[in-house]
Formats: sequence, structure tokens, C-alpha cells
Amino acid sequence: MAEKLFLEVVTPQKLVVSEEVEIVVAPGSEGEFGALKGHTTFLTSLKIGTLRYKDAKGKERYLFINGGFAEVLPDKVTILAESAERRRDIDVERAKRAKERAEKRLAEKSADMDLARAEVALKRAVHRLKIK
Ligand code: ATP
Repeated sequence: MAEKLFLEVVTPQKLVVSEEVEIVVAPGSEGEFGALKGHTTFLTSLKIGTLRYKDAKGKERYLFINGGFAEVLPDKVTILAESAERRRDIDVERAKRAKERAEKRLAEKSADMDLARAEVALKRAVHRLKIK
């Protein structure tokens, strides 16, 4: 059996995950990375994407991560995310509405539209839907 490490995923609103896991794979801003027990210590920023891990029973779990930071220690991974949801907590209708809103804004191209903001909102919605 694989040795376990502890995973904590925290947002400003709540503690999303706090459990022992076998492996964590996270969307680092320099590329996806995996961490097992005993990994060298490092710190990285995260981009919008999917965090997956194998829980203590060996079951694959998926989470939406809205960017943030990861601290990897030999026996613990801490993720500080701007927002994060477990797959089962993603509201598909809400994500679809957010996607439509962002697409509409991008299509309208009005002078006062914040392009970067609309693009990031679209990215969040697309990733949430991809995980579901
Ligand atoms: P929206 O425009 O629908 O608010 P958003 O991408 O702007 O979406 P965030 O700023 O990422 O939302 O998150 C705000 C809060 O709402 C967080 O607590 C986040 O977990 C939650 N949230 C956002 N979208 C969803 C969703 N589709 N399902 C579940 N929770 C969501």
C-alpha cells in the first residue's frame, strides 16, 4: 500500500479538503505536477484547472481550483485557492450561466468591457463544466 500524505485545500470561505491521500496532481502555473509522500519541499502558484487526488481508499477525486498557491512538504500538501469546489458540489447550471454571460460579453466587444475579466470568467466556467 502507498504511503500517505496529508492534503488540505483551503479557500477564503472554507476548508474544502482535509484528509490523507496517496497522491495529489495539481495545476501548477508552470505545468501540472504530482506529489507523493516524501516529495521535496517546494512552493508554486497554481492556475485555473483541475486538482485530482487518490483518497486513502484509492478512489480518484476531482476538484475545481480557481488559481492560488501550493506548498508541498514531504508529508503534506497545502493548497490555498481563490475558490475551489469538489466535483459533486459544482453547480452545472450556474457554470453554464457564467459561461453564457462571459461569451456574450466577449462577443459584444463593447468599449467598457474588461476583456481579461471576461476571459478568466469564461475559463472558470469551462473548467467547472469539464470536471462535471
Ligand atoms: P459566478 O459568476 O457564477 O459567481 P465565478 O466564477 O465568478 O462564478 P468564483 O468567484 O470562482 O465564481 O466563486 C465565488 C463563490 O461561488 C465560491 O465560493 C465558489 O466556490 C462558488 N461557485 C462559483 N461557481 C460555482 C459553481 N458553478 N458551482 C458551485 N460553486 C460555485
